Amino acid sequence: MKKIIITIDGWSSCGKSTLAKQLAAKLNYVYIDSGAMYRAITLYFLRNHIDWTSHEATARALEDIYLEFKFNEKSGQSEMHLNGENVEYVIRDLVVAEKVSEVATVKEVRNFAVTQQQKMGGSKGIIMDGRDIGTVVFPDAELKIFMTADNAVRVKRRFKELYEKNPNITIEEVKTNLEMRDYIDSHREISPLKKADDAVVLDNSTINMEKQLNIALDLVNAKMKQE
Ligand code: C5P
Repeated sequence: MKKIIITIDGWSSCGKSTLAKQLAAKLNYVYIDSGAMYRAITLYFLRNHIDWTSHEATARALEDIYLEFKFNEKSGQSEMHLNGENVEYVIRDLVVAEKVSEVATVKEVRNFAVTQQQKMGGSKGIIMDGRDIGTVVFPDAELKIFMTADNAVRVKRRFKELYEKNPNITIEEVKTNLEMRDYIDSHREISPLKKADDAVVLDNSTINMEKQLNIALDLVNAKMKQE
């Protein structure tokens, strides 16, 4: 069966990765979490005190960064490795989330990430989620989904996720972070978050994961018939 590229873009914490993982499992496709790459770069910059407002310092630092997704048999998931270290867990921290959108505005950082993402899509059969996947990374993708959900629903979801790891976190902190990231992501100069003209909008404020998956599978099937 012909393999296609599926892109899932949208606001922070809309459930993009949940849908992407479910779809990948159903279709036997590779799932790539592009946000994990920006988060890992941010972690490296924070740990090494890199001034990402300096183009020279950023370019130099990127030369020392090697990113790789490795499949973990135990978790059944592909996990982000930064220079050989598994950082999948630590990149989800609020400390990283507080800086990642700023780092993701930097031209050198985006070029670095996008070049690698495009290589990963070379053999099709992939689902990638992020902010600019349907608009910039794979503008010719066969199926583009743009996800959205009510703010309150998104804050609640992300709070639940982060609270399990850190019970000291407050809902206010999570809300502020989501709003800040959405603002920076959609207002930045290079590759801002926006719906691709040919993307299908999926609002999951009031539907469950099963219904969401079925809608997406219908979209995939319809696309396959056209191809
Ligand atoms: O998807 P996730 O929330 O993990 O992404 C973290 C951040 O990485 C986003 O808020 C955004 O600033 C950046 N990002 C991006 N382009 C992508 C994916 C993520 O700028 N394709």
